[in-house]
Order: sequence, then C-alpha cells, then structure tokens
Amino acid sequence: MNLIPFFETAVAVLNRNKSTELGDRTKYIGSSDVGSCARKVYLQKKDPTEPDFSTMLKFSRGHVAEILIDDMFTAAGVKHLYDTQVEVIHPNHPLKAHIDFLFYADFNGKPELHIVEVKSVNGIPDEPYPSWIDQLNFQLGLLRLKHPKGKLGGSILTIDLNAGQMHQFNGFEYNKTLFKYLCSRGLNMLDCMAEKAEPSTSTSFLCGYCSYRSDCPAMALPEVELPTEIEAKANKYVELNEIRYEADRKMRSIREELLAFTGPVFKGRSDTIDLVASTVGPSMVVDSPLLRKQYPDIYHEVLKERAGYTKLECKPNC
Ligand code: SF4
Repeated sequence: MNLIPFFETAVAVLNRNKSTELGDRTKYIGSSDVGSCARKVYLQKKDPTEPDFSTMLKFSRGHVAEILIDDMFTAAGVKHLYDTQVEVIHPNHPLKAHIDFLFYADFNGKPELHIVEVKSVNGIPDEPYPSWIDQLNFQLGLLRLKHPKGKLGGSILTIDLNAGQMHQFNGFEYNKTLFKYLCSRGLNMLDCMAEKAEPSTSTSFLCGYCSYRSDCPAMALPEVELPTEIEAKANKYVELNEIRYEADRKMRSIREELLAFTGPVFKGRSDTIDLVASTVGPSMVVDSPLLRKQYPDIYHEVLKERAGYTKLECKPNC
C-alpha cells in the first residue's frame, strides 16, 4: 500500500473542498485579503495556482487546530455559547469575513459578542503579526455593522501543536478608523480586480510563502557582478544555513521526545551523557499592545531606541 501518492491527491481535494466552503473567493474580498499584499491577492484571484503538497499540508494544520479547539469547547460544555465559521458581509460592498468562533456570551453567561480567530503556528510570536490584527479588526468592523449595539471584542488564539502551547492575544475592540482604512484597502483590491487600479506590493514575513515571489517587483534585485570568491562564500553561507535549519528542525523534534521521557524536572548521568531537565517558572511581562491601547501616553514615554544591526540575506537565485 503506497500512501504518499494517495495523500498528495487527497490533500489537494481536501484543500479545494475547504475553499469551496468559503464561496467563490474571486467575487469578494475577505478578511484575510485586506491585511495581505494587494499584488498577491490580485494574482491569487486572477491567476490561482495550486500550492505544493507541503504548503497544503501546512494549510490543513489550521483546519486541524480549529477542529481541536471546537472539540475542547464542546468537551467543556460551552458549545451552546458560540457558532463557527460565521459569515459577516458588508451591506454595500462585496467585502466579507468568515469568523472562526463567534461567542454570544462570556463563560459566565453575560451576553457579549467575542470573535476568536485561530492561528496554528510553529512557534508562538511575542506579538501578533500585523496581518492577523488587520484580519481581526476587519471582522470586528463587519460585525459591528451587523450589531450596532452591545459589548463586542475579539482575540487571536495561537496554538503550537508541536510544542503543545497556546496563547491568547486578547483585548481587541472595534476601531472605527482602522475599519474604515481596511475597507478602503478592500475597495482598492476590488478596483484592482476590475483592472481600474494597479495592485501595490507590501512585503512581510509572508513573502517567504508567496507563490508570486519569483517575478515580484518588490523582490527584484539589481544585477551585479560579484567577485568569484564572494559568490562562493555566499553560496557556502546558504549551504550552511540550510544545514543549520535542518539541524534546528531535528533538534526540536528530539527535544520533544527527550522531554516526554524526562518530564519537566529530571537529573541523570549515564556512561556517556548528563541529562538534566528543569523548569523555569512563569514570569510577568508587559503586554505592549494593551499598554499602547490603554495608556498611549505612558507607552510613548517608556519607548527606548533599539540598537540597529546589519542584516545579511543570501538566497539561492533560482
Ligand atoms: S513576494 Fe511579497 S510583496 Fe511580492 S507579491 Fe508576494 S507577498 Fe506581495
């Protein structure tokens, strides 16, 4: 029984089925679009390409995380408090969002609307990415149009299934100015789709996963003639970086297996190795987005300059 070719086809079908649930995405601008690069959104809709197997598997990780969280809410007996994949639509324009989890009350039963946007990650970031924040703010805006009154908030729930960690970025509220800006971005994208405007590029960490990167003007580099030895060193740097990346990946997996054996606290010496696991207790950190939102004056008073540094990027030119 050869499973891999089977799954290569199956994951593509699964991916297509999941996209179908969101309707014809070429006909509207969604919440994940408004926070994205306009060029990528335009090309995705005009010239859709099927992602490779690895990317589609990573997409599926997001669906798995949502199912897991739904199961946990259900197991904890709060299923009656929320709906999943709730569609909210702008009354005048083809702008819409699909909300992962929409709660109608807090756990204590007090009525409120609370959006939970789930992000499956490989390593929980210190702060939510700007594209996530835009996505949530757009959802909050569309929901506010539908429900002009009452308490309304949202959070981004990150889950790292490999590391077994979750983190909630909480405290997001409807922001009229931001929503207006995001709507104008969405309308601009619709103009691009109608060939009335030129889609602009906006670079972010997501460029690394972009299928339209190879001919992206934002990624274009001037042609230069590098000295042979510099070119060789740069190629060596790329090669070593790939080895380091692969080593990091393997180390992460071995680390999980070792910690599964040791538990959080362990000390032991064998003939060849000392094995020690210890736990660093939780500590308090300042929640910067919350500080900026609730105490903007204090936030600006405590800002300090971070020293700059030189960044070196070497990537194979293919
Ligand atoms: S590479 Fe980055 S800037 Fe270029 S189209 Fe893709 S997401 Fe946009």
